[in-house]
Formats: sequence, structure tokens, C-alpha cells
Amino acid sequence: MMEEFQRIYAQVDLDAVKENVRQIKAVLAPKTGVMCVVKADAYGHGAGAAAAALEELDAVSGFAVATAEEAVELRRKGIRKPVLVLGYTFPYSYEKLIRLDVRMAAFRYDTLEELSRIHMAMRQKDCSRKAKIHIKVDTGMSRIGITPDREGLAFVKKALGTEGIEVEGIFTHFARADERDKSSAQKQYFVFREFLRLLYEETGVDIPIKHCSNSAGIVEMPEANMDVVRPGIILYGLWPSPEVRQDLIRLTPALSLYSRVVYLKEIEKGTPVSYGGIFVAPKRMRVATIPAGYADGYPRGLSNKGYVLIHGKKAPVIGRVCMDQFMVDVSQIPETVMGDQVTLIGKDGEERITMEMLGDLSGRFNYELACDLGKRIPRIYTKDGSVLCTGDGHQVF
Ligand SMILES: *Cc1c(COP(=O)(O)O)cnc(C)c1O
Repeated sequence: MMEEFQRIYAQVDLDAVKENVRQIKAVLAPKTGVMCVVKADAYGHGAGAAAAALEELDAVSGFAVATAEEAVELRRKGIRKPVLVLGYTFPYSYEKLIRLDVRMAAFRYDTLEELSRIHMAMRQKDCSRKAKIHIKVDTGMSRIGITPDREGLAFVKKALGTEGIEVEGIFTHFARADERDKSSAQKQYFVFREFLRLLYEETGVDIPIKHCSNSAGIVEMPEANMDVVRPGIILYGLWPSPEVRQDLIRLTPALSLYSRVVYLKEIEKGTPVSYGGIFVAPKRMRVATIPAGYADGYPRGLSNKGYVLIHGKKAPVIGRVCMDQFMVDVSQIPETVMGDQVTLIGKDGEERITMEMLGDLSGRFNYELACDLGKRIPRIYTKDGSVLCTGDGHQVF
């Protein structure tokens, strides 16, 4: 192991990510493409590496990100398939994104006007490429998007008639597809379909790429596949919520997180451990110090609650998790010595700690936990069974 990985590292298994896409593809209608959501640095897994591995698959028709900067970064790393920015894009990015052939979500009239203006200015100079947009329809999130009614229809007509704009797609987003009761998501799907029908009746235009399903929709609402689906969390082998059925698709978690024991000591009964003394040794104990903390994204909420794996056995977190260190009880693991590997997330022997378990224990959301994995954690990517790249991963991709 290279020395800079001794403190902590995340191992991202790109074969698992690819296998998760194959599992997704297997439950989709044959014509449905997979638009992989790699926002937030691929939910903390590393967007450059994940997208490069995913791009190799025919099933992957493109990528979705949250911001213009994330889209630019994918292109900078050589990603060639279509990229869509799901959120609002500010006008300063329009020219750059058009040049990079990045699609933008559109739902504001001023976006249409500005895109058209920029297209015409670029055409005067050196580039006649149109601005490709996917119109966002709000069917129940009340977040962004046009309304699925006559007012919204006027917007779509305006977009269709605006010079320099190509309406490539139209989409909506489920607010509650991850709940057992699918009635709300089904209603959203129905409203979206009705809006598309109205649009077709009024304009005769069938917008080529229609989409709505997120991870939960993919797993449990096969009727809502449409032209592409937008999986995020399940790409990484994580579950959208505990209510989503886990027997319909097999997912493999892609990320493991490892550290090392850097200090070992015996403490006497009555000795407080860490800030605030919220843990006091009830007996003589053997304590190991782990050089990772909440600044690495290891939740402070795991204070006195979490556990790690050492030699395939559970070692409970004792006392508060500090910014950069925390302590665990290894009284029951006498073979522990300094330098031993510590599994914070992942498998060791028969035991496994999942992102979902840490989410439950810390009172947080698995999505949030993945996204919060610190930038100071070096990543190691494995592919085709061996280490693909080391360093921070960002040099290679
Ligand atoms: C984040 C996001 C997704 C992916 O959601 P998951 O629950 O991770 O699958 C899909 N569509 C939109 C619009 C999003 O913002």
C-alpha cells in the first residue's frame, strides 16, 4: 500500500458500478437508455473515474449532473457522451456549455431568450451549434419546472419556435417514488403523460427524449421507463430508501473506506475518552485510535454509536468522533496491533458495514453520507479486478 493511503482511503470498485448498470439495464424496457447521474462527484465516488468506466457500456446513453461546472469537468476528463445539467444553469455558462454540446434544463423564458441570443452571436463568430435543452416539468416537487397545463404548454411552444434552440428532451422528477405507497409517484407520471399528450395534440411535436424515473422509479415502476431513466444512488450500489424492495434488483456497493490503528493503549476504569467525557470506561479497556474524523465525512453522530471492523470483528466507537480522529474499544479483539487495517465502510471477513447502516446509526441519510466523504480522502479505483489508478484519481482522469 502506498504511504499516502495509510491514514485513510476510499476504494471504489468500478466493476461494481458497471455491474449495477447491467442489473439496471436488465429490468428496463429494451429501448430505454440509461442516463447516469454523476452529480456531486458521483455521490462522492469520483465523477471522472465513474463516468469513464460507465461510458464504456452501450447501455449508457449519457450523463446527468447538477451544475455547469460538473458538466465542464466531465468534458475536461474526456467524457464524450451526452451530458445534461439537471438544475438551473446561470447565463455565464451558456456559451461554454453550447460549445461543449452540454444539454441544459430549461423552464424560464429568460433562459430561452438568452440561449437564442448567444447562439446567434456565436454563429456570427465561429460556431453554428444549437443550444440543446430538456424542458423541466414540475409535476409534484414544486422545485423547478414549468406547470403541466396551458401555461406550460405556451412555454414549450415558445421553446420550439425559438431560433437556435433544439428541444431534445422533456422530463419531470418524482418526489415520493422511494415510498412503499406509489400513488403519489403514479399520479405524477399520469400528469406528465397527460401533458405530453396535450403537447402532441396541440403541436404535433413528439419531443424525442422523455424521461422521469430516478433510482426508486427504476426499481419499482417499470411502467415509467420512457426513453431514458436517470439512476443515481443505485449506480453506486446504495438503496434509495428502506422502503424500496430489495428483491427486484441486485446491487453491489462500490465504495469501501479504510483506515489504520495509529495508537493503542490500556485505560483504567473511570477514564473519560474524547471531548466532553461522554464516554467513561466502565472497566479496564483496550482502546485504539483511528486517524479519521468528521472532516473526512465520518459522521460526528456516530459518537458512542458507530463501530468499525478490525480483524473481521466489530470495534465500537467510544466517546465523541473528533474532526480528525476517534477512538474504538478493542478489548474484545486482543490481536489488534498498531498499523492494523480498520474498515469504516465495507466488508471484513463475515462482517459488513454499509452506508445505510452508518446512516441509520448517525441519524443521517445514506445519500448525504456518500456526498460528504471528504475531499481529503484519497481514492483508489479498481477495475477488471485490479487497481486502475492511485493518487487522488484526478490525475489519471
Ligand atoms: C439526483 C437526481 C436524480 C437521481 O436520483 P437518485 O434517487 O439518486 O436515483 C434523478 N433526477 C434528478 C432530476 C435528480 O436531481
